[in-house]
Amino acid sequence: MINKTEKIWMDGKFVNWDDAKIHIMTHSLHYGLGAFEGIRCYNTPKGPAIFKLDEHVKRLFQTAHIFLMDIPFTEDEIKSAIINTVRINGLKECYIRPLVYIGYGAMGLYPKGNPINVAIAAWPWGAYLGEEGIEKGIRVKVSSFIRNHVNSNMSRGKVSGYYVNSQIAKKEAISCGYDEALLLDTEGYISEGSGENIFIVRNGVLKTTPLTSILEGITRDSIITIARDIKIDVKEERFTRDEIYIADEAFFTGTAAEVTPIRELDGRVIGDGKRGKITKKLQSIFFDIVKGRNKKYNSWITYVK
Ligand code: PMP
Repeated sequence: MINKTEKIWMDGKFVNWDDAKIHIMTHSLHYGLGAFEGIRCYNTPKGPAIFKLDEHVKRLFQTAHIFLMDIPFTEDEIKSAIINTVRINGLKECYIRPLVYIGYGAMGLYPKGNPINVAIAAWPWGAYLGEEGIEKGIRVKVSSFIRNHVNSNMSRGKVSGYYVNSQIAKKEAISCGYDEALLLDTEGYISEGSGENIFIVRNGVLKTTPLTSILEGITRDSIITIARDIKIDVKEERFTRDEIYIADEAFFTGTAAEVTPIRELDGRVIGDGKRGKITKKLQSIFFDIVKGRNKKYNSWITYVK
């Protein structure tokens, strides 16, 4: 059950959590076109700070742009609203969910004149794939479902309806006794997890999938930068599932999943079945940054004053 907080921002006003309701005929609820973000705020020595706020708000607006949704607020207004949502709820660490949706009005697939509504909720949410997963790694299964073709899901966008594909893959993985699903693209190459990007380490080189069928993950981009800064060679190129089977290390990245090691894929132990050395190093730098303990990357966090 979600840890509810006091207030949710809806179209410019704060409403009580229990009153943050919409009409059942809300367009996005039926047809799945909504743009959303997942953002984390961490407690730092200088109070709560939001990780990569600008990047997340930019991606929200880019999703809306791709899908011809006109957000009736500016990026700056949404950034302030996000900061205020964290502040008004007195949160130190939380997950933040901005959602842009097509509101109540006409039905059918061409909703001319329906409002574009925006809501922002924030609530405490721990490690998405478990604290133990962060330390010991998780077990993953290649899904029998594939990511939609790049011309079906335009993957630069983070769209509500895309997560039907993610949910069915995740349900399958869990029903088979795994923790998470890994989806292939339409050509059979590795794409991404149900809500995460993937990295592997082989012979000291870090590899991640190129930006074709995957979401342009903000954590992915942060890890690439961190790795290059500590002189780890990073390659963005296609790879197949068997390359993960024989990798030395593998891990998922995502706002919810943070940096979660993968210790097994399809019953094959990866490396020595534990969190790898490079994974641990990147994880530790990542957590220092988000928790405000690494000055060098201070520009990546926005303090909630
Ligand atoms: N891929 C998918 C499908 C996702 O849902 C997410 C989570 N937003 C990611 C990758 C990781 O993106 P980010 O690091 O920006 O959270």
